[in-house]
Amino acid sequence: MPEQMWRNHDLKSSYDVVIVGGGAHGLATAYYLATRHGITNVAVLEQKYVGFGASGRNTAILRANYRTAEGIRFYNQSLKLYETLAQALDFNLMFSQQGHFTLGHSTASMAALTTRAEMNKAEGVDSYMVTPPEIKRMIPEIDISSRPRYPILGALYHPPGGIIRHDAVVWGFARGADRQGVHVHQLTQVEDILTEGDRIVGVKTNRGTVGCGAVVSATAGWSSEICRLVGIKLPIATHPLQAFVTQGLKPWLHHVVVSSTLHIYLSQSDRGELVCGGAVDSFPQYSLRSTLDVLESYAMHVLELFPMLHNIKVQRQWAGMCDMTPDYAPILSPIDAYQNFYITCGWGTWGFKAAPASGYNMAELVATGSVPATIAPFSYDRFLKNQLLGEKAAASVGS
Ligand SMILES: Cc1cc2nc3c(=O)[nH]c(=O)nc-3n(C[C@H](O)[C@H](O)[C@H](O)COP(=O)(O)OP(=O)(O)OC[C@H]3O[C@@H](n4cnc5c(N)ncnc54)[C@H](O)[C@@H]3O)c2cc1C
Repeated sequence: MPEQMWRNHDLKSSYDVVIVGGGAHGLATAYYLATRHGITNVAVLEQKYVGFGASGRNTAILRANYRTAEGIRFYNQSLKLYETLAQALDFNLMFSQQGHFTLGHSTASMAALTTRAEMNKAEGVDSYMVTPPEIKRMIPEIDISSRPRYPILGALYHPPGGIIRHDAVVWGFARGADRQGVHVHQLTQVEDILTEGDRIVGVKTNRGTVGCGAVVSATAGWSSEICRLVGIKLPIATHPLQAFVTQGLKPWLHHVVVSSTLHIYLSQSDRGELVCGGAVDSFPQYSLRSTLDVLESYAMHVLELFPMLHNIKVQRQWAGMCDMTPDYAPILSPIDAYQNFYITCGWGTWGFKAAPASGYNMAELVATGSVPATIAPFSYDRFLKNQLLGEKAAASVGS
């Protein structure tokens, strides 16, 4: 019999910690609560199946080369955790640190990328500018001529960036948490959150009511709906983000390539498929449908960079939901109105790379009651105090 990844359980009448959302963030929080703090009486409640949300739908790009010092430090902590995660989880995550290019097509974008390179260097993150001939040396198939509408003027290069197997990360965290005694409950939807004064005392689910010592919402695109249950309004709009893969090709693209100007990014998976994503759909909605107009625009822009792909067939296209914040930075925070309610959200199009650091810090927050310094800038009340972070230049396209 193959080993079961995680077990099924009856719902207990109460848990010390209830985590809503069985994506990478919820499962990572459960895993670190158990492994770092010895808190194992934990339930992860997932309305569908583990990885149903954006964690099972993303393009799996990992990097740390953000724009703000706060962002760079946080995402670098996550990248470092990812580097040893396969060993920690004893599970092959297929992490390939193949290098990450963000192309510049105008003097304005080159100036913004150069600023990012310098911010990264100041924070000890390996990122630097490269010229078109240097790009061509590493990616011979790219068109660096003056022919395209937006010629390539240079790029921000980030050697430790790369891609990972997203499903493996989710399954690895679920298995790791299960092995510590955490209950992972699939097909368990939270329908209401029960409060007494300033405390959360339980959650009502489609399988019954569960008491709890604390609740963590790790529901990304659904966060506004969960927080609405306890009267909390989030500065979040949920937008779909679409992606596609092509037929499998012999390995030829050995780096991640991003163009914010063209709203496109591309990598090649271990299966040989080209994995392509872009910017979120313009209108907020909760639809998981993909559309022809987005496919056409992605394909058109990929061909601007790689004209030799003109005969390649698209194999699959899909969409996931993204919880977009106004400053393109996340929210990892306690909530003043309740003593024992915590949120990790605002993960938008960029949150998969953050899952280990998010889980690590959220677990510490729940276990100790104090906010770890690395996530202090990502508080909910920064929107009330007008202390937004300005991460859009590094997070809008490029995951
Ligand atoms: C197409 C696409 C490409 C992306 N590419 C990248 C990338 O390359 N790199 C990167 O870093 N990020 C990327 N992202 C973003 C990244 O995928 C997300 O930010 C991240 O996966 C969010 O993880 P999560 O665990 O917070 O949420 P999710 O994985 O969305 O999990 C939330 C879970 O909560 C569950 N839930 C919701 N409501 C309830 C309820 N009432 N009761 C119980 N369960 C509930 C949902 O079913 C869901 O499974 C991409 C996103 C998309 C859509």
